[in-house]
Amino acid sequence: MKKKTKLIHGGIPQDKQTGGVSFPIHLSSTFKQRSVGKFEYEYARTGNPTRHALEQLIAQLEEGTDGFAFSSGMAAITTVFKLFSSGDHLLLSEDVYGGTYRLIVKVLSKEGITADFVDTTDLNKVAAAIRPETKAIFLETPTNPLLTITDIRAVSRLALDHSLLLIVDNTFSTPYWQNPLTLGANIVIHSATKYLGGHSDVVAGLAVTNSPELAEQLAFLQNSIGAVLGAQDSWLLIRGIRTLGIRMEEIEKTTKEIATFLVDHPSVARVYYPGLVSHKGHKLHQSQAEGFSGILSFESGSGERAEEIISSLKYFTLAESLGAIESLISIPGKMTHASIPAERRKEIGITEGLVRLSIGLEDSSDLLDDLQQALN
Ligand SMILES: *Cc1c(COP(=O)(O)O)cnc(C)c1O
Repeated sequence: MKKKTKLIHGGIPQDKQTGGVSFPIHLSSTFKQRSVGKFEYEYARTGNPTRHALEQLIAQLEEGTDGFAFSSGMAAITTVFKLFSSGDHLLLSEDVYGGTYRLIVKVLSKEGITADFVDTTDLNKVAAAIRPETKAIFLETPTNPLLTITDIRAVSRLALDHSLLLIVDNTFSTPYWQNPLTLGANIVIHSATKYLGGHSDVVAGLAVTNSPELAEQLAFLQNSIGAVLGAQDSWLLIRGIRTLGIRMEEIEKTTKEIATFLVDHPSVARVYYPGLVSHKGHKLHQSQAEGFSGILSFESGSGERAEEIISSLKYFTLAESLGAIESLISIPGKMTHASIPAERRKEIGITEGLVRLSIGLEDSSDLLDDLQQALN
């Protein structure tokens, strides 16, 4: 089955009982048992049919064994991190999502879990940071907001050699473009709030495992911690995922046009987009993903200049988040990445003048005209 077909026919596409072509929202919190202990579903934290349909769908899309749905991307990440305990050490991409950075530094540190943030695009640096107590590597590729690319296959070989788990946050690429489990990762995570939901109307997280053993551990943690996705949001997410293919194709087409326009614009110092041949990770990304998505960043020159541009735009909404039908704009250094200390932000290149765009589904000529007038 090709990807676009899988998006439509994957998971549990129909209601067996009524023939309804949209899988129903099961709001029941508990389920009648045929006799003691004999049931398909028991209690909705443990399992809910609508959530189950979503979990089947994401497992198929990521080519994994099992899927798990959570109340947010951070709930998914937190639950996965509960695989580790006091004394364990983790390695993460240095420009990891701000919320993940905060979770590690401010929350998990209190539980005795330590971590190092390394440049995962450099395999030697990753290898050098591995300690006897290291248990996992957690990476994003492309990263947010500088779109750096890490070689998933190479890091997975390194992880295997050292018996480490490889966890990939695949939010930016989506399963439509990139499938980390097929490249050697053990767990893939999504903030489904972004492209998978796609319409800025649901907060959700997903995780998929590559083995029944890991799935069993994660199912136990999901049920024990209880940060599960509700039935209505599960349904919304299924509905969003059905159109992921056509959204990603269109978004990418427009993003390429905008990236080219920005590269040619005299007032733009630098454009970060893996779809540009000039991007450092272009070839590598192409070797592990089928598309480049719709996030790009550019260096406007200064914080004032960035704010000037933002206030002149008509079609780009100033907001956190990304991956929806409407185009969004943000200043990562002051917004999504504000929880990263200023010193660290500077080190990794997240300046005050760095502007991030998440391209939506508006007509590309309107977006180009809008950027043109704002930059001028
Ligand atoms: C948004 C985001 C998260 C967090 O997800 P929430 O749904 O907001 O909790 C994690 N990773 C990445 C890459 C994100 O963009």
